[in-house]
Amino acid sequence: MGQFSSIHPEVLIIGGGVIGLTIARELHRRGVGRIVIVEKGICGEESSWAAAGMLGPQAETDEPGNMLGLCVESRIAYPDFASSLFEETGIDIELDRSGTMCLAFSDDDVARLERRVSWQTAAGLNAAMITGAEARRAEPFISPEVVGSALFPDDWQVENRKLCKALRRYADLNGISVFENAEVSELINENGKIVGAKIGIDEIKSENTVLAAGAWTSLIKIGSFSAPVRMTPVRGQMIMFRTAKRSFEHVVYSPNGYLVPRNDGRILVGATSEDAGYVKENTDVAVRDLTRSAETIAPQLSGLKIADKWSGLRPRSADGLPVLGRLVGLGGLYFATGHYRNGILLAPRTGETIARAIVDGVDSSYFDVFGPDRFRAANANG
Ligand SMILES: Cc1cc2nc3c(=O)[nH]c(=O)nc-3n(C[C@H](O)[C@H](O)[C@H](O)COP(=O)(O)OP(=O)(O)OC[C@H]3O[C@@H](n4cnc5c(N)ncnc54)[C@H](O)[C@@H]3O)c2cc1C
Repeated sequence: MGQFSSIHPEVLIIGGGVIGLTIARELHRRGVGRIVIVEKGICGEESSWAAAGMLGPQAETDEPGNMLGLCVESRIAYPDFASSLFEETGIDIELDRSGTMCLAFSDDDVARLERRVSWQTAAGLNAAMITGAEARRAEPFISPEVVGSALFPDDWQVENRKLCKALRRYADLNGISVFENAEVSELINENGKIVGAKIGIDEIKSENTVLAAGAWTSLIKIGSFSAPVRMTPVRGQMIMFRTAKRSFEHVVYSPNGYLVPRNDGRILVGATSEDAGYVKENTDVAVRDLTRSAETIAPQLSGLKIADKWSGLRPRSADGLPVLGRLVGLGGLYFATGHYRNGILLAPRTGETIARAIVDGVDSSYFDVFGPDRFRAANANG
C-alpha cells in the first residue's frame, strides 16, 4: 500500500503556491477538517516566490470590466487578510499602503496616464495626476526627466515571500496535511467525476479536488477527459539592488518597468515577459535591460551592484484571465489557476470564492465569467 492510499481528504489541493495555500486556509476557516495539499516541489517557491508583490490593479489597467472588479475586491480584502494572518501565525506580511506612482517621460505618456486617471476617477476609484515637480517632491530620487506622474494611492504592495511563509505556517499550525516533492501526473476520473489524483504509482482519493498548479496546470491529465484549459508559462525575470535603508516611498512604474521598494532597503526591479517554456533562468540581455530601466527611473541607482536576480513562471490562460470554477459535466473538480500577473493580488478573493463553492455550495457569479467552460465554447466555435 502506498503512502497516500489510506488518506481520504474532503479536499485535495494540487499545487502549494499562494493560490493553493490560500484556498486551504479558507477551507479550514470554514470548518473543513481533512485538507491535503500535494506540491511537486516546495510550497511557495515558484511564481508566488518570484513575484514583486504589487497589489496594483489600477496602475496596469486601461479599461473597466470584470477583471478589474475582481482585482479591486481582492485588494479591499487585503488589510483583513494581512491582520488575520498575523494573529494566526505571528508573521507580518508587510502590507504597505504607500501607493503607486506611474511616471511620465513625455507628453504622450502624460496623455495616456491622464486618460487612465480620468476613467478610473469617473468609476469611483482613487487616482490623480501630479506634475513632475510634485512627483520629485514625493520621490526625490526619480529622474529630472520626469514630466508628470499618475498617483494611485490604493495600489499597494505586500512581501509575497512572507505571505507564502505565513500561509504555510497556517497549514502547519492547523492540521492541513502538506506533501512536498510529490507530483500529480493525472486526475482520476470515474464516470464524469474526479475522485482523486495519481502521484507516481500511488493514488490519493478525495471528495473534492482543486487544481491550483499554476503554469503547470495543463500538464496534468484529467483521465480520458481532455480539459480545454491551456496554460502557458510566461517567464518574468527580476533583479534586485540593496541599499542601507528604504529610498523610495511608493512603488514606481515607468513605461519600461517598475521599482518595488521593500522596508529592509531592497529595491526590486521588474520584470520581463517572455515565452521561454519551463526554463527558469536569467539572461544577460534581460539583466541589462532591467538595469537600464531602473536607471531611467532613478539615475542614482546606476553603479549599484546587483544583489540578486531570479525568474519565475506566470500562469497565463489563452485569454490572459484567471480560470475559476468548474467544468460542466465534470464533478468534484475546481479550477483555481491562470492568475498570470495578478496571483498575489487575487489570492484572498480566489481563496474565498473557491472555499465558499465547496463548503456552502454557492457558486460565485465570477464562475460564469472566469469559468473553464469559456474555453470549451471558444474551441467549439473554432
Ligand atoms: C517576475 C514576476 C513578477 C510578478 N509580480 C506580481 C505582482 O507584483 N503582483 C501579483 O499579484 N502577481 C505577480 N506575479 C504573478 C504571481 O506570481 C502569480 O500569478 C501567482 O504566484 C500564481 O500563484 P499560483 O499559486 O497559481 O502559482 P505558483 O506559485 O507557481 O504555484 C503553483 C504550484 O503548483 C505546483 N505544481 C505544479 N504542477 C504540479 C503537480 N503536477 N503536482 C503537484 N504540484 C504541482 C508548483 O510546483 C507550484 O508550487 C508575478 C510573477 C512573476 C513571475
